[in-house]
Amino acid sequence: MKDLFTIAPLTDVMRAALAPAFNVHHVRDMDDPVAWLARHGAGIEYALTDGHYGLCPEYLADLPDLKLVSSNGVGYDAIDTSAMVERGVLVTHTPNVLNAEVATTALMLLIACYRNFPAEVVQARSGAWAAQGNLPLARSVDDRTIAILGLGRIGMAIAEKLAPFNPNIIYSARSKKDVSFKYYDDLTAMARDADALIAITPGGAETHHLINAEVMRALGPEGVLINVGRGSVVDETALIAALEAGDLGAAGLDVFENEPHVPRALCEMPNVVVTPHIGSATVETRAAMGKLAVDNLLNHLKDGSVISPVPEVESLL
Ligand code: NDP
Repeated sequence: MKDLFTIAPLTDVMRAALAPAFNVHHVRDMDDPVAWLARHGAGIEYALTDGHYGLCPEYLADLPDLKLVSSNGVGYDAIDTSAMVERGVLVTHTPNVLNAEVATTALMLLIACYRNFPAEVVQARSGAWAAQGNLPLARSVDDRTIAILGLGRIGMAIAEKLAPFNPNIIYSARSKKDVSFKYYDDLTAMARDADALIAITPGGAETHHLINAEVMRALGPEGVLINVGRGSVVDETALIAALEAGDLGAAGLDVFENEPHVPRALCEMPNVVVTPHIGSATVETRAAMGKLAVDNLLNHLKDGSVISPVPEVESLL
Protein backbone atom coordinates (compact mmCIF):
# COMPACT_ATOMS: atom_id res chain seq x y z
CA MET A 1 0.00 0.00 0.00
CA LYS A 2 1.11 3.56 -0.71
CA ASP A 3 1.32 6.28 1.93
CA LEU A 4 -0.97 9.31 1.75
CA PHE A 5 -0.12 12.52 3.61
CA THR A 6 -3.39 14.22 4.45
CA ILE A 7 -3.90 17.82 5.49
CA ALA A 8 -7.60 18.35 4.72
CA PRO A 9 -10.34 17.00 6.98
CA LEU A 10 -11.59 13.56 5.90
CA THR A 11 -15.17 12.33 6.14
CA ASP A 12 -15.88 8.72 7.11
CA VAL A 13 -16.89 8.02 3.50
CA MET A 14 -13.57 9.38 2.22
CA ARG A 15 -11.63 7.37 4.83
CA ALA A 16 -13.47 4.19 3.82
CA ALA A 17 -12.79 4.77 0.12
CA LEU A 18 -9.09 5.44 0.74
CA ALA A 19 -8.49 2.64 3.25
CA PRO A 20 -8.08 -0.28 0.80
CA ALA A 21 -5.47 1.60 -1.22
CA PHE A 22 -3.58 3.94 1.12
CA ASN A 23 -1.99 4.13 4.55
CA VAL A 24 -3.47 7.48 5.56
CA HIS A 25 -1.28 9.78 7.69
CA HIS A 26 -3.28 12.77 8.86
CA VAL A 27 -1.60 15.91 10.21
CA ARG A 28 -4.27 16.02 12.92
CA ASP A 29 -2.88 12.78 14.36
CA MET A 30 0.67 14.18 14.49
CA ASP A 31 2.08 16.23 17.37
CA ASP A 32 4.53 17.90 15.01
CA PRO A 33 3.82 17.32 11.30
CA VAL A 34 7.11 18.94 10.19
CA ALA A 35 9.14 16.64 12.46
CA TRP A 36 7.04 13.65 11.33
CA LEU A 37 7.73 14.47 7.67
CA ALA A 38 11.45 14.85 8.34
CA ARG A 39 11.43 11.21 9.51
CA HIS A 40 8.82 9.69 7.16
CA GLY A 41 8.33 12.10 4.23
CA ALA A 42 10.77 10.41 1.82
CA GLY A 43 8.85 7.88 -0.28
CA ILE A 44 5.44 9.53 0.14
CA GLU A 45 3.99 10.08 -3.34
CA TYR A 46 0.49 11.28 -2.54
CA ALA A 47 -0.96 14.22 -0.61
CA LEU A 48 -4.53 15.31 0.01
CA THR A 49 -5.37 18.88 0.96
CA ASP A 50 -8.03 21.51 0.32
CA GLY A 51 -8.32 25.07 -0.91
CA HIS A 52 -8.00 26.43 2.61
CA TYR A 53 -4.95 24.52 3.87
CA GLY A 54 -3.05 24.21 0.57
CA LEU A 55 0.43 22.77 0.91
CA CYS A 56 2.95 24.89 2.82
CA PRO A 57 6.66 25.00 1.87
CA GLU A 58 7.60 23.44 5.25
CA TYR A 59 5.65 20.29 4.36
CA LEU A 60 6.79 20.28 0.74
CA ALA A 61 10.45 20.42 1.70
CA ASP A 62 10.26 16.94 3.19
CA LEU A 63 8.12 15.35 0.49
CA PRO A 64 10.83 14.77 -2.15
CA ASP A 65 8.99 11.94 -3.92
CA LEU A 66 5.60 13.62 -4.22
CA LYS A 67 3.73 12.77 -7.46
CA LEU A 68 0.21 14.05 -6.90
CA VAL A 69 -1.53 16.60 -4.69
CA SER A 70 -5.28 16.17 -4.71
CA SER A 71 -7.05 19.28 -3.44
CA ASN A 72 -10.61 19.01 -2.19
CA GLY A 73 -12.05 22.25 -3.56
CA VAL A 74 -12.02 24.16 -6.83
CA GLY A 75 -9.90 27.15 -5.71
CA TYR A 76 -6.23 26.29 -5.33
CA ASP A 77 -4.56 29.67 -4.75
CA ALA A 78 -3.10 28.20 -1.52
CA ILE A 79 -0.99 25.81 -3.61
CA ASP A 80 2.11 27.08 -5.42
CA THR A 81 1.40 25.47 -8.80
CA SER A 82 4.61 26.85 -10.39
CA ALA A 83 6.68 25.07 -7.73
CA MET A 84 4.65 21.90 -8.38
CA VAL A 85 5.19 22.04 -12.14
CA GLU A 86 8.93 22.61 -11.59
CA ARG A 87 9.03 19.48 -9.45
CA GLY A 88 6.85 17.49 -11.84
CA VAL A 89 4.05 17.14 -9.26
CA LEU A 90 0.47 16.89 -10.53
CA VAL A 91 -2.25 18.93 -8.83
CA THR A 92 -5.95 18.09 -9.09
CA HIS A 93 -9.02 19.95 -7.81
CA THR A 94 -12.80 19.47 -7.73
CA PRO A 95 -14.41 21.68 -10.39
CA ASN A 96 -18.04 21.57 -11.58
CA VAL A 97 -19.53 19.40 -8.81
CA LEU A 98 -19.97 22.53 -6.66
CA ASN A 99 -21.14 25.01 -9.31
CA ALA A 100 -24.84 24.90 -8.42
CA GLU A 101 -24.23 25.13 -4.66
CA VAL A 102 -21.90 28.12 -4.83
CA ALA A 103 -24.36 29.79 -7.21
CA THR A 104 -27.08 29.24 -4.61
CA THR A 105 -24.85 30.88 -1.99
CA ALA A 106 -24.33 33.90 -4.25
CA LEU A 107 -28.08 34.24 -4.77
CA MET A 108 -28.74 33.76 -1.08
CA LEU A 109 -26.42 36.69 -0.24
CA LEU A 110 -27.82 38.84 -3.04
CA ILE A 111 -31.42 38.28 -1.94
CA ALA A 112 -30.46 38.76 1.72
CA CYS A 113 -28.93 42.16 0.88
CA TYR A 114 -31.82 43.39 -1.26
CA ARG A 115 -34.53 42.13 1.11
CA ASN A 116 -32.68 43.20 4.30
CA PHE A 117 -33.02 39.61 5.48
CA PRO A 118 -30.76 39.55 8.60
CA ALA A 119 -32.41 42.64 10.09
CA GLU A 120 -35.91 41.33 9.27
CA VAL A 121 -35.14 38.05 11.07
CA VAL A 122 -33.96 39.97 14.15
CA GLN A 123 -37.07 42.16 13.97
CA ALA A 124 -39.36 39.12 14.15
CA ARG A 125 -37.30 37.15 16.67
CA SER A 126 -36.54 39.93 19.12
CA GLY A 127 -40.09 41.15 19.60
CA ALA A 128 -39.21 44.47 17.96
CA TRP A 129 -41.95 43.86 15.40
CA ALA A 130 -44.58 43.88 18.14
CA ALA A 131 -42.97 46.80 19.97
CA GLN A 132 -42.01 49.02 17.03
CA GLY A 133 -43.78 47.68 13.95
CA ASN A 134 -42.20 46.95 10.61
CA LEU A 135 -38.81 48.05 9.35
CA PRO A 136 -38.66 50.36 6.32
CA LEU A 137 -39.42 48.63 3.03
CA ALA A 138 -36.62 46.64 1.43
CA ARG A 139 -35.77 46.66 -2.28
CA SER A 140 -36.64 44.10 -4.92
CA VAL A 141 -34.04 41.81 -6.47
CA ASP A 142 -36.13 41.54 -9.65
CA ASP A 143 -35.19 43.25 -12.94
CA ARG A 144 -31.70 44.32 -11.84
CA THR A 145 -28.57 44.80 -13.89
CA ILE A 146 -26.24 42.28 -12.33
CA ALA A 147 -22.53 42.25 -13.10
CA ILE A 148 -20.60 39.01 -12.75
CA LEU A 149 -16.84 39.29 -12.35
CA GLY A 150 -15.55 35.87 -13.48
CA LEU A 151 -17.87 34.18 -15.95
CA GLY A 152 -16.34 30.72 -15.55
CA ARG A 153 -17.99 27.51 -14.36
CA ILE A 154 -19.58 29.03 -11.25
CA GLY A 155 -20.16 32.45 -12.83
CA MET A 156 -22.25 30.79 -15.56
CA ALA A 157 -24.17 28.78 -12.94
CA ILE A 158 -24.94 32.05 -11.13
CA ALA A 159 -26.18 33.63 -14.37
CA GLU A 160 -28.44 30.61 -14.99
CA LYS A 161 -29.76 30.54 -11.44
CA LEU A 162 -30.55 34.27 -11.60
CA ALA A 163 -32.78 33.84 -14.67
CA PRO A 164 -36.15 33.76 -12.82
CA PHE A 165 -35.34 37.22 -11.43
CA ASN A 166 -35.27 38.61 -14.97
CA PRO A 167 -31.81 40.18 -14.69
CA ASN A 168 -29.83 42.10 -17.27
CA ILE A 169 -26.53 40.24 -16.91
CA ILE A 170 -23.26 41.93 -17.75
CA TYR A 171 -19.83 40.46 -17.05
CA SER A 172 -16.07 40.76 -16.99
CA ALA A 173 -13.42 38.05 -17.25
CA ARG A 174 -9.96 37.74 -18.74
CA SER A 175 -11.53 36.89 -22.10
CA LYS A 176 -14.83 37.60 -23.86
CA LYS A 177 -17.21 34.62 -23.98
CA ASP A 178 -19.63 33.36 -26.58
CA VAL A 179 -22.67 34.53 -24.61
CA SER A 180 -25.37 37.13 -25.13
CA PHE A 181 -24.38 39.11 -22.00
CA LYS A 182 -22.51 42.40 -22.46
CA TYR A 183 -18.75 42.12 -21.86
CA TYR A 184 -16.62 44.77 -20.13
CA ASP A 185 -12.85 44.84 -19.98
CA ASP A 186 -13.08 47.85 -17.67
CA LEU A 187 -14.31 46.86 -14.22
CA THR A 188 -15.16 50.42 -13.15
CA ALA A 189 -17.27 50.95 -16.28
CA MET A 190 -19.08 47.68 -15.59
CA ALA A 191 -19.70 48.67 -11.96
CA ARG A 192 -21.09 52.02 -13.10
CA ASP A 193 -23.68 50.24 -15.25
CA ALA A 194 -24.56 47.62 -12.60
CA ASP A 195 -27.02 47.54 -9.72
CA ALA A 196 -25.14 44.65 -8.12
CA LEU A 197 -21.73 43.07 -8.71
CA ILE A 198 -20.98 39.43 -7.91
CA ALA A 199 -17.30 38.47 -7.66
CA ILE A 200 -16.52 34.84 -8.46
CA THR A 201 -12.92 34.78 -9.67
CA PRO A 202 -10.03 32.77 -8.22
CA GLY A 203 -7.75 34.42 -5.67
CA GLY A 204 -4.01 35.00 -6.15
CA ALA A 205 -1.82 37.84 -7.37
CA GLU A 206 -3.69 38.38 -10.66
CA THR A 207 -7.01 39.18 -9.01
CA HIS A 208 -5.70 40.84 -5.83
CA HIS A 209 -7.86 43.88 -4.93
CA LEU A 210 -9.47 43.95 -8.39
CA ILE A 211 -12.47 45.39 -6.56
CA ASN A 212 -11.04 48.59 -5.13
CA ALA A 213 -12.41 51.91 -3.87
CA GLU A 214 -12.98 53.20 -7.40
CA VAL A 215 -15.04 50.15 -8.40
CA MET A 216 -17.09 50.43 -5.20
CA ARG A 217 -17.75 54.12 -5.78
CA ALA A 218 -18.84 53.26 -9.32
CA LEU A 219 -21.33 50.73 -7.93
CA GLY A 220 -22.68 53.59 -5.87
CA PRO A 221 -24.77 54.29 -2.76
CA GLU A 222 -27.52 51.90 -3.91
CA GLY A 223 -25.08 49.32 -5.25
CA VAL A 224 -24.71 45.83 -3.84
CA LEU A 225 -21.41 43.95 -3.78
CA ILE A 226 -21.40 40.17 -3.38
CA ASN A 227 -18.13 38.27 -2.96
CA VAL A 228 -18.17 34.48 -3.15
CA GLY A 229 -14.79 34.18 -4.92
CA ARG A 230 -11.86 34.92 -2.62
CA GLY A 231 -11.40 37.54 0.08
CA SER A 232 -8.27 38.86 -1.60
CA VAL A 233 -10.26 39.99 -4.66
CA VAL A 234 -11.87 42.81 -2.65
CA ASP A 235 -9.89 45.53 -0.87
CA GLU A 236 -11.51 44.97 2.53
CA THR A 237 -10.23 48.22 4.08
CA ALA A 238 -11.64 50.16 1.14
CA LEU A 239 -14.88 48.18 1.44
CA ILE A 240 -15.36 49.15 5.08
CA ALA A 241 -14.59 52.78 4.24
CA ALA A 242 -17.02 52.77 1.29
CA LEU A 243 -19.83 51.27 3.38
CA GLU A 244 -19.19 53.68 6.26
CA ALA A 245 -19.18 56.67 3.90
CA GLY A 246 -22.34 55.50 2.13
CA ASP A 247 -20.44 55.22 -1.17
CA LEU A 248 -21.64 51.61 -1.45
CA GLY A 249 -25.13 50.45 -0.51
CA ALA A 250 -24.70 46.92 0.82
CA ALA A 251 -22.39 43.90 0.77
CA GLY A 252 -22.89 40.15 0.99
CA LEU A 253 -19.65 38.38 1.78
CA ASP A 254 -18.81 34.69 2.05
CA VAL A 255 -15.03 35.18 1.84
CA PHE A 256 -12.59 37.49 3.65
CA GLU A 257 -9.01 38.64 3.41
CA ASN A 258 -7.90 37.06 6.69
CA GLU A 259 -10.13 34.02 7.20
CA PRO A 260 -11.46 32.89 9.59
CA HIS A 261 -11.38 36.43 10.95
CA VAL A 262 -14.20 38.73 9.89
CA PRO A 263 -13.58 42.43 10.60
CA ARG A 264 -15.84 43.62 13.45
CA ALA A 265 -16.84 46.67 11.43
CA LEU A 266 -18.40 44.41 8.78
CA CYS A 267 -20.22 42.30 11.38
CA GLU A 268 -21.78 45.35 12.94
CA MET A 269 -23.12 47.06 9.83
CA PRO A 270 -26.83 46.44 9.23
CA ASN A 271 -26.37 46.56 5.46
CA VAL A 272 -23.73 43.79 5.41
CA VAL A 273 -24.45 40.06 5.34
CA VAL A 274 -21.53 37.81 6.27
CA THR A 275 -21.25 34.02 6.07
CA PRO A 276 -18.21 31.91 7.04
CA HIS A 277 -16.99 30.66 3.62
CA ILE A 278 -19.89 28.26 3.15
CA GLY A 279 -20.20 28.51 -0.63
CA SER A 280 -20.14 24.74 -1.16
CA ALA A 281 -20.96 23.70 2.39
CA THR A 282 -23.84 21.26 2.07
CA VAL A 283 -23.79 17.55 2.82
CA GLU A 284 -24.57 16.70 -0.80
CA THR A 285 -22.01 18.95 -2.47
CA ARG A 286 -19.21 18.25 0.00
CA ALA A 287 -19.81 14.51 -0.56
CA ALA A 288 -19.46 14.98 -4.32
CA MET A 289 -16.29 17.04 -3.85
CA GLY A 290 -14.80 14.48 -1.44
CA LYS A 291 -15.54 11.67 -3.90
CA LEU A 292 -13.81 13.52 -6.75
CA ALA A 293 -10.79 14.34 -4.56
CA VAL A 294 -10.49 10.66 -3.59
CA ASP A 295 -11.13 9.37 -7.13
CA ASN A 296 -8.27 11.50 -8.45
CA LEU A 297 -5.94 9.70 -6.01
CA LEU A 298 -7.35 6.23 -6.73
CA ASN A 299 -7.20 6.74 -10.50
CA HIS A 300 -3.60 7.86 -10.37
CA LEU A 301 -2.70 4.91 -8.21
CA LYS A 302 -4.42 2.52 -10.63
CA ASP A 303 -3.08 3.74 -13.99
CA GLY A 304 -1.38 7.13 -13.61
CA SER A 305 -4.42 9.08 -14.87
CA VAL A 306 -6.24 11.92 -13.13
CA ILE A 307 -9.80 13.15 -13.62
CA SER A 308 -9.58 16.88 -12.94
CA PRO A 309 -6.07 18.38 -13.12
CA VAL A 310 -5.65 22.14 -12.63
CA PRO A 311 -4.82 23.87 -15.94
CA GLU A 312 -1.31 24.84 -14.77
CA VAL A 313 -0.13 21.19 -14.75
CA GLU A 314 -1.39 20.28 -18.24
CA SER A 315 2.22 20.16 -19.49
CA LEU A 316 2.92 17.24 -17.12
CA LEU A 317 0.10 15.04 -18.46
P1 NDP B 1 -13.25 29.09 -13.41
O1 NDP B 1 -11.80 28.92 -13.66
O2 NDP B 1 -14.21 28.24 -14.17
O3 NDP B 1 -13.68 30.62 -13.63
C1 NDP B 1 -12.93 31.68 -13.15
C2 NDP B 1 -13.36 32.96 -13.87
O4 NDP B 1 -12.59 34.04 -13.33
C3 NDP B 1 -13.09 32.91 -15.38
O5 NDP B 1 -14.14 33.51 -16.08
C4 NDP B 1 -11.82 33.74 -15.52
O6 NDP B 1 -11.68 34.41 -16.75
C5 NDP B 1 -12.03 34.76 -14.41
N1 NDP B 1 -10.75 35.35 -14.04
C6 NDP B 1 -9.62 34.74 -13.66
N2 NDP B 1 -8.65 35.62 -13.45
C7 NDP B 1 -9.17 36.83 -13.74
C8 NDP B 1 -8.65 38.14 -13.76
N3 NDP B 1 -7.38 38.40 -13.43
N4 NDP B 1 -9.47 39.15 -14.13
C9 NDP B 1 -10.76 38.91 -14.48
N5 NDP B 1 -11.30 37.69 -14.48
C10 NDP B 1 -10.52 36.65 -14.13
O7 NDP B 1 -13.42 28.85 -11.85
P2 NDP B 1 -14.74 28.45 -11.04
O8 NDP B 1 -15.89 29.22 -11.56
O9 NDP B 1 -14.83 26.98 -10.98
O10 NDP B 1 -14.33 28.99 -9.56
C11 NDP B 1 -14.04 30.34 -9.37
C12 NDP B 1 -13.52 30.60 -7.99
O11 NDP B 1 -14.58 30.60 -7.05
C13 NDP B 1 -12.55 29.57 -7.41
O12 NDP B 1 -11.25 29.70 -7.92
C14 NDP B 1 -12.62 29.87 -5.92
O13 NDP B 1 -11.68 30.85 -5.58
C15 NDP B 1 -14.03 30.44 -5.75
N6 NDP B 1 -14.88 29.54 -4.99
C16 NDP B 1 -15.41 29.94 -3.78
C17 NDP B 1 -16.21 29.09 -3.05
C18 NDP B 1 -16.79 29.50 -1.75
O14 NDP B 1 -17.01 28.65 -0.90
N7 NDP B 1 -17.11 30.77 -1.55
C19 NDP B 1 -16.49 27.73 -3.48
C20 NDP B 1 -15.93 27.41 -4.79
C21 NDP B 1 -15.16 28.30 -5.49
P3 NDP B 1 -11.46 33.58 -18.14
O15 NDP B 1 -12.72 32.77 -18.31
O16 NDP B 1 -11.34 34.63 -19.16
O17 NDP B 1 -10.26 32.74 -17.91
